[in-house]
Amino acid sequence: MQCYSASLRRFLMCDDAPTKWGVLWRGIKGVCPNCGRGRLFSRFITQHEMCSECGEDFSDIRADDAPPWLTIFITGHLVVPLIVEFARHDVFAQSIETAIVIGVALVSVYLILPRAKGLFIAAIWWQSKR
Ligand SMILES: [Zn+2]
Repeated sequence: MQCYSASLRRFLMCDDAPTKWGVLWRGIKGVCPNCGRGRLFSRFITQHEMCSECGEDFSDIRADDAPPWLTIFITGHLVVPLIVEFARHDVFAQSIETAIVIGVALVSVYLILPRAKGLFIAAIWWQSKR
């Protein structure tokens, strides 16, 4: 990747030394917080023990319950207003409203959980390197 300005280089992580926010962004993207090239996960959220590109060891890093908690927190803030809105106004049949709420919840979890896990792995990695 070609980087032009110094600020763009820092933001896009072209420099060798990543910033804290750059490391967190790499985690959200699901790539190695150290090099930004290797994948953090195989399959959905199965964590690699080490980076395939730079060899960084992730075997001691466990995000535990934090990613599911963050995912539930965000998903709840998306789904609950939807449920309240459906309860106030009868827009659709109840079965369709239920299907919409379940669909929004499933898509939300599918999109947020791997990013939340990558974020916490990157944050833990950043703390261990300081
Ligand atoms: Zn790496």
